Amino acid sequence: MPEGHTIHRLAADHRDRFLDQATRVTSPQGKFSDSAALLDGQRLTEAEAHGKHLFLGFADTGWVHIHLGLFGKLGFGTAPAPPPTDTVRLRLRTDAAYADLRGPTTCALITDAEKQAIHDRLGPDPLRHADDPDRAWHRVSRSRTTIAALLMDQKVIAGVGNVYRAEVLFRHGIDPYRTGRDLTPAEWTAIWTDLVALMREGVRLNRIDTVRPEHTPEAMGRPPRVDDHGGEVYVYRRAHQPCHICGGEIRTADLAARNLFWCPTCQRR
Ligand SMILES: [Zn+2]
Repeated sequence: MPEGHTIHRLAADHRDRFLDQATRVTSPQGKFSDSAALLDGQRLTEAEAHGKHLFLGFADTGWVHIHLGLFGKLGFGTAPAPPPTDTVRLRLRTDAAYADLRGPTTCALITDAEKQAIHDRLGPDPLRHADDPDRAWHRVSRSRTTIAALLMDQKVIAGVGNVYRAEVLFRHGIDPYRTGRDLTPAEWTAIWTDLVALMREGVRLNRIDTVRPEHTPEAMGRPPRVDDHGGEVYVYRRAHQPCHICGGEIRTADLAARNLFWCPTCQRR
C-alpha cells in the first residue's frame, strides 16, 4: 500500500495538470458514471491529501474521495488520451493531460460534511502543515499498545506506513515493542519532527530515503540497496542482513498485520 507521501504527491500531480481547468470527467468502467456525469465539465478547484486519502474538489459539486487501497493505481499522461480500457474507474481529461484511476478501494462523490467526517476520524498527518502532533500524542501517551502498532494506526497518525514506521523507530533507537504510554514527550516530538522531514523528502524525491549522510552507500563504501521499493533504508526489508551501524543482524516479526523490521542492538531505548 502506498504511504502518505505518495498520496500527497498525487494531489500535487492533479493540481499541476487540472487546477482551475474545466475538466472532462468520465467513468469508462461504469461504476462511477452517475457521479462523473455530475462533475463533467466542472473546474477542479482543489486537490489535497490526508494520510492515504486523496480528495479532488470540484467547486460547488463536491469532492471525489479516493483511497487506492492495496491495488489502486493512478496514472497520468499527456493528450491525446488513448481510448480508455474498461478497467478505468475514473478518467479526468483536459486538452493537455489526462489521469486514469484503476482499482481503487474507494472512489466516491462526497459532500463537505462527509469529507470533514473523514478528517475527523484520521489522526494528524505529518505532511499537513496545520496538523497538530499533540492530537496524536494525546492517544499515544495513554496507550498500552506498542509504538510500532500505534504508528500504523491511521486514527492515531495518518500517512505513516510500514517503511516510515520501521525507519523512524530505528533512527531514534526506540525499541518497537515499547508501549505508547512508556514514551516521553521529547521522544514523541523527535519522532514527529523526523517524520515531517523524511516524508517531505519522500514527496520531493518520490521515494523513501532514510539513511543519514554518513550511512549512504558512497559514505560507507557499500553497494547500493537493490529493492523494488528503491531508496536507502536502515532496516526495512533488510531482515538477516547486517545493520549499517552495529553490524548485527536485522530482525523481522509480524506486528499490526505487517512485517516489522528492527535492530535489537541499536533499538534499546
Ligand atoms: Zn544496529
